[in-house]
Amino acid sequence: MPDQRSEKASDVRKIIHVDMDAFFAAVEQRDHPELRGKPVIVGGDPGDRGVVATCSYEARRFGIHSAMTAARARSLCPQAIFLRPRMEAYRDASRQVMGILRCYTPLVEPLSLDEAFLDVSAATADGVLAVQIAREIRARIERETGLTASAGVSYNKLLAKLASDWRKPNGLLVVPPEHGLAFLAPLPVGKLHGVGPATVKKLSSMGIYTVLDLRNASREALIAQFGKTGLWFYEIARGIDRRPVQPSRQRKSVGTERTFPENLEDPKVMLATLQQIAGQVATRLQALGLAGRTVSIKARFPDFETVTRAHTDAQTIWHTDALCLFARPIGQGHPCRVACARIRPVAGRDREWSGQSQC
Ligand SMILES: [Mg+2]
Repeated sequence: MPDQRSEKASDVRKIIHVDMDAFFAAVEQRDHPELRGKPVIVGGDPGDRGVVATCSYEARRFGIHSAMTAARARSLCPQAIFLRPRMEAYRDASRQVMGILRCYTPLVEPLSLDEAFLDVSAATADGVLAVQIAREIRARIERETGLTASAGVSYNKLLAKLASDWRKPNGLLVVPPEHGLAFLAPLPVGKLHGVGPATVKKLSSMGIYTVLDLRNASREALIAQFGKTGLWFYEIARGIDRRPVQPSRQRKSVGTERTFPENLEDPKVMLATLQQIAGQVATRLQALGLAGRTVSIKARFPDFETVTRAHTDAQTIWHTDALCLFARPIGQGHPCRVACARIRPVAGRDREWSGQSQC
């Protein structure tokens, strides 16, 4: 009879979430020593309704955070230093960080330029602790890039990410399986993956504010309110998250986005803009030899409310007119400042589709 305990222990995954601290701002402070210790804001122009992309911890003390308008940030901290992003420098630093992560496991899933999940279960099979790997990674990142990262170590993605957030900046937290439920219990539901502001509102109308409240809700009630997502909420409230770390750089979508200095109000201009954006997406799709069936567009209105709408078609879509046709009805009649079109590729009927490595 197999040893059930050891079989069970080997089932427990070791996941690390690595998240660079105030990444864009930290790169700026590294490259420009005169900015160190100062409130630095990387993002759009405060005089022109730009948005904060990242800000240094010195700026965060003034209540500034990413996605806030730069104008508001300036009113909170008039002495803040505003910088336009230098994406090439951030990409270089990111490549260096991801290279370090890949020394420990091939199972690295980048989420953005500055964060990634690692599955180090195999690397820990011979007795090395995941926390030792996390410590070494943080030390190497700091030594080799001059930037700091926070890390969370746990048995799934949900908890590893919450753990890395817990000790930011420059921190490390381990949440072992026996502490998972207690760690989650007091957290506000908005901290959970997939729980956005609209869901937080709906949950609070049900009397659910913390993960413990969510755990006390019945499975049936959650499914009745949220459908399939309700089942996800039921599971994550119990620390259950089976999502694998997916190292393949599988392209989930192809898209393009533009922010305009002025509101777009004239429907003719909006339509022409959409046509241009759809054209860019179509060109990129064709260059990649891809086609898709789901088109989504995003519009941001003057009050910064953002809406996203998607349309899935039975036919594969890959040229401008079709992209436009499905995207058009979405933003009609509203002034907007950001427009974005995105398409999720599928293995289409397009003859150029290779079906393997490209996407
Ligand atoms: Mg970060």
